[in-house]
Amino acid sequence: MFEATLRYNSNSDKQSINTSLEYIDSLIIPGRMIAANSKAIPSNLKNYRDEADVGYYIEPSVADFRVGDDFTDDAGRVRTWHSKYIQQVDERLADLLEERENIDPADLLEEDVRRITSSSVEFQEKFVPGRIQEEAGKYDTIENVESYQPEAVIPWYNKIRREADFEVGDTIIDEAKDAAELPVKPCLFVTKSLIRDQQRSEQLVELLTSNGIDQCFLWVENLDKQATGQGEYEDLAQLVVNLADEEISAHFFYGDYFATLLSHLGLEGTVYGSMYGEEETEQREQRSGQGVITRYYTDAVKDFLKIPAAVDLQQRTDAMMCFCDVCDRQFDSWQDLAEMEQDDDENIQAPMKKHHIRVRWDQIRRVESESLEDTIDRIESDYQDYVSEFFRSNQIADSKSLDYIPRWVNAVESVTDTDHERAEK
Ligand SMILES: [Zn+2]
Repeated sequence: MFEATLRYNSNSDKQSINTSLEYIDSLIIPGRMIAANSKAIPSNLKNYRDEADVGYYIEPSVADFRVGDDFTDDAGRVRTWHSKYIQQVDERLADLLEERENIDPADLLEEDVRRITSSSVEFQEKFVPGRIQEEAGKYDTIENVESYQPEAVIPWYNKIRREADFEVGDTIIDEAKDAAELPVKPCLFVTKSLIRDQQRSEQLVELLTSNGIDQCFLWVENLDKQATGQGEYEDLAQLVVNLADEEISAHFFYGDYFATLLSHLGLEGTVYGSMYGEEETEQREQRSGQGVITRYYTDAVKDFLKIPAAVDLQQRTDAMMCFCDVCDRQFDSWQDLAEMEQDDDENIQAPMKKHHIRVRWDQIRRVESESLEDTIDRIESDYQDYVSEFFRSNQIADSKSLDYIPRWVNAVESVTDTDHERAEK
């Protein structure tokens, strides 16, 4: 089954998650957020497991220290969440940050790389069950406390661009395998240009097979729909096929509908945020304090649109109102959605997040139940219905186009055709 994993990135996601458990398979949470909310989050995770069998992964926040300064405040001090994370994982990280501004495993002594890798594994495996036991108190023993461990351990990852990154990646996976009781699921963090190079792309697969790894996350940086070419989508689709050929279960670390489509080529899961989180660039600079703009996820175009743009487009195409239980309860017409936009941001964010979680789940389950041909027919027909109105709507920026939809289809068709040719030879 294709795994739908939701990012639990902030405490404001809690409400949407609590009321959407039947629409997700698992969660992924930054280690720093767990360390800083060490009572509430382990207890929430226990409830999700008990109530709906929703598991979780912990993102190794040690990767945040590789570049930039978004983990420090204006005075240059390590921010609270990161600082609590360091206390829980390994104080050696604090020493290293004193010595240097950033921590890139490729610049460290092997001894430090191994030490931090194994501390990060231990945090992922032990922290949540430990806190759950502690909360239950001395007199109450939790049965099977290990059942509250994550689904797998994600080793410290590093952006792979050159030989030295492959070498340190190999050391990290080797150490993580030694340290872990749970299955190890490395995250291959790469650039689009790295996977353009066929040899490098093969080397990524080898990094896993040579370490006996059978599952991974795949994060291709900056896979923005408006800025990714067909060739780049083809490279990625080919990499997914190559991983599947080696019986490696690959999941996208950030994925939009292209990930869902790739389930036909052997991709076995994807991660996304409750709002956005479909693609990501390695964070370098401090984020501004401003919140994100609330957008409406529009199924037919497989993207988020500002609410007035979504309403305009749906009215132009005479689209039916969304059938999900959230929209069904709140909106009788697209006009109701437009009016809600005038409401407070807090009131509109939760329903927009919940709607997105439901639509993504439906897309995944639907694609899973149909043939590649049927999926392509359906998205091409939506594309035909929407392309001219998308272009005409003056609520949608002129710089945006729906060209990504034919690029996805062409990329998948080109890779599957290559496969046929190979099989025939
Ligand atoms: Zn909806």
